[in-house]
Amino acid sequence: MGAVSSSHAAVVARTKWVSTRRASPPVPFIDALFAGTAPDGGLYFPERFEPLPASTLDRLGAADLVTIGTAVGTHLLAGDISEQAMHALVGDALDFPIPLVQVTDRIWALELFHGPTLAFKDVGARTQARLLHHFTDGTPLTILVATSGDTGSAVAQAFYHVPDSRVFVLYPEEQVSDVQEAQMASLGGNITAVAVGGTFDDCQRLVKQAFADDELRKKVWLTPANSINLGRLLPQAFYYFLVARLGTHAVVSVPSGNFGNLTAGLIAKRLGLGIRRFVAATNVNDVVPEYLRTGIYEPRPSVRTVANAMDVGAPSNFERIRALYDDDLDRLRADVIGAAFDDNTVVAEIGRVHREHGYLLDPHGAIAWLGLQRALAAEPEATGVFLATAHPAKFREVVEPAIGAPVPLPETLAHALARPRHSERLPVSYPALVDLVLR
Ligand SMILES: *Cc1c(COP(=O)(O)O)cnc(C)c1O
Repeated sequence: MGAVSSSHAAVVARTKWVSTRRASPPVPFIDALFAGTAPDGGLYFPERFEPLPASTLDRLGAADLVTIGTAVGTHLLAGDISEQAMHALVGDALDFPIPLVQVTDRIWALELFHGPTLAFKDVGARTQARLLHHFTDGTPLTILVATSGDTGSAVAQAFYHVPDSRVFVLYPEEQVSDVQEAQMASLGGNITAVAVGGTFDDCQRLVKQAFADDELRKKVWLTPANSINLGRLLPQAFYYFLVARLGTHAVVSVPSGNFGNLTAGLIAKRLGLGIRRFVAATNVNDVVPEYLRTGIYEPRPSVRTVANAMDVGAPSNFERIRALYDDDLDRLRADVIGAAFDDNTVVAEIGRVHREHGYLLDPHGAIAWLGLQRALAAEPEATGVFLATAHPAKFREVVEPAIGAPVPLPETLAHALARPRHSERLPVSYPALVDLVLR
């Protein structure tokens, strides 16, 4: 039971995938994709990056997202997937717009929040789901995920209608928001929402126990679909190429938590995309901006903020960024500047930008915008782009008081709220979970 060997594509020299800790052997893409982490605890990464040919870069300068994803994805997975298969996969995954919206005379927003859960993680999760399906031999995938809300809805939506896959999303009953429950429990089909009579930690413990259960794993193929997985990371490099449309080397500001988004941007630059500089913009969970400033990396417990998708005190992808720069701080500083902002600054800026520019920021996008302002102050002739990672309606409780007006619900959310819901109820009991999964 497991992934097929991709022997049909043996002509092109295949990229090997290595661990950031260099203490486990290089593997082919398919193994890295299904592995989660490497055996030495590191994260998978390509052995080396071949830049895209200049002719391809030229062509992508005005291309649409699916064309970009096909070219960049086929290049990254050279020899492991055909251009035709990649095109079909990307077209199916990225079937929503990613517009570049002008906000001032030299600032653009790259809006990544028009997917089904209204946040940028749709890009990675939807592509990952289809990559996992592509690289299987028809053996059904079973995805088990514990969630306190947002991750679960992104994974559920990502696998919805993907053939030969089943998803069980475990969430603490009564502890997720109405919108989050609607996004998980109103899908049906191959998605089972499981309301656990316990806490998020109970959900997580049940899922961990399943992954450690060899008997269960003989009967179903449990597939990790976590956020550090390459299948999630690599597709995030695609949308950076949309910035080339501006025809200049822009400064790009990335609101960061686990730093997958920024890692993907740095990969795009390594592939040859002309980006002048990146801003690593964070809330007060600022271990990476602090590292850039002092050279000392000190992970610490996270602090709650209004940009809560970025409340991360020990960012998992930082290891990949270090590996990408061979741990050379000066080289990293040439490409990335850090900036961190507290909640008061963020909320005030949401109000100011709405008043002065008529643009509605969510708290995460606002941090990217703030980081960009700082960077552009030092480079008065540069053009700037900030990544807007969540729809403002997802964070109404922060945005509405900041602008003093209601934020209308987008259609996708309104639809999810109106659909009937169904959840399986589960006590905090491992045998009950096994029964459910094998039913
Ligand atoms: C996850 C998330 C981020 C942070 O992205 P990372 O890749 O973890 O740095 C930023 N904004 C929103 C809305 C998110 O959901």
